Amino acid sequence: MAMPCTEMPVDPTAPPPKVIFSFGMGADSTSILLRWLEDPTSRDFELDELALITAHTGSEWDSTRTAMETHVLPRLAAANVRFLQVARSQRHATIDGGGIVVLDDSRHPTSLYIEGAYTLWDELTEAGTVAQASGARLCSVHSKGAALDPVIARITRGQPYRHVIGFEANELGRAAKDALHNTDLRTGEYPLIEWGWDRATANAYTESIIGTTIGRSACTFCPFTFANRSSRAAALERFRVEPHVGASALLMERIAIALNPAQGIVAGKRLTDLVREHGQLDTVLDALDADLRQREHALYEVRRILRPRKTDPTKLGNAARSVRIRGRGSRGAMEGLLRRLADDGVRKGLIEAETGDDGILRVYQHRRGPVFPTVERFFVVAPALAHEKEHERFDQWWADARPGGRRAVAA
Ligand code: SF4
Repeated sequence: MAMPCTEMPVDPTAPPPKVIFSFGMGADSTSILLRWLEDPTSRDFELDELALITAHTGSEWDSTRTAMETHVLPRLAAANVRFLQVARSQRHATIDGGGIVVLDDSRHPTSLYIEGAYTLWDELTEAGTVAQASGARLCSVHSKGAALDPVIARITRGQPYRHVIGFEANELGRAAKDALHNTDLRTGEYPLIEWGWDRATANAYTESIIGTTIGRSACTFCPFTFANRSSRAAALERFRVEPHVGASALLMERIAIALNPAQGIVAGKRLTDLVREHGQLDTVLDALDADLRQREHALYEVRRILRPRKTDPTKLGNAARSVRIRGRGSRGAMEGLLRRLADDGVRKGLIEAETGDDGILRVYQHRRGPVFPTVERFFVVAPALAHEKEHERFDQWWADARPGGRRAVAA
């Protein structure tokens, strides 16, 4: 049963684990675990000194659950290895463990709790965005790192520990970055790099032990999955088998695109386009349509301030966004409202209405200008999952930046 991290019972007489393995459930970390279980000479600690910990984003492929429950959990139980499964229960976790739940803490695990609690899908759709392929994998930092750190602190109880991560032999850069987080208590360790094992070697070893390989562990909408040709093909095939999973990824993307046409799950390109071009994923598109037909929609007002780059004012530096909800109802009702707004505003010469190449109607009151800073303001209908969001100083920023924008249509 899930319990808050802050209420997690810690037996004061039990020695804290000396080795913590952040178990990612993918090919790399599974090969490490199997080797440790099969070959005691591959490790310099006893299995009762080890604790595995997995942070669930709540957005994992179901095939990962099947693989873990079939091939890994029985082996952990047989070897009496401690396995903790944790997740966020709310968007913002705290360093002392608030907002984090322990889904399972067992030496005889039988179930993988991939549903998590507060999911990354929830977080991203509420923010009206998608996971970003550029930058520092913030989605992972928020949904996994934030859940792992307090639990690790709680079970190690101030004692030094070795923190094992499954970076493979070609991931020296990621290991070097991780080592920057070492402290007096924490020492990062990377067995695959020590062993010189790349992904192919890890897969070959896993297959030699369990007779098959373990697929990629990732969120069903992970931009890194879709950025790579072979993992993209595998993900689209998984969508074909599980159309509702594909539809939920497209739903997230649709909300993000409505609020910002430049968004897209595939490194700024649209997953929806990939699915359409695929030719055999009509069931995914049908599932999305069915979902949209019954889902509550909202009329959103979006304002965006686009600021210049400090080193080059002709280039975009950063943007601030305000999202407000101006109405809620069925999809038909909200689209009717937007069309009336468009007809009325266009007739009066106050706005421009435009259906983008994404097929989404936006009604602009301000179009962004060519010089930064500039602003834009538009109205759009989308599934009512994105929350209102606006920085407390947004109106002041808007007033300051507005001269750079222009009305959509000269009054
Ligand atoms: S699997 Fe992808 S989308 Fe999920 S947390 Fe990791 S980087 Fe982000």
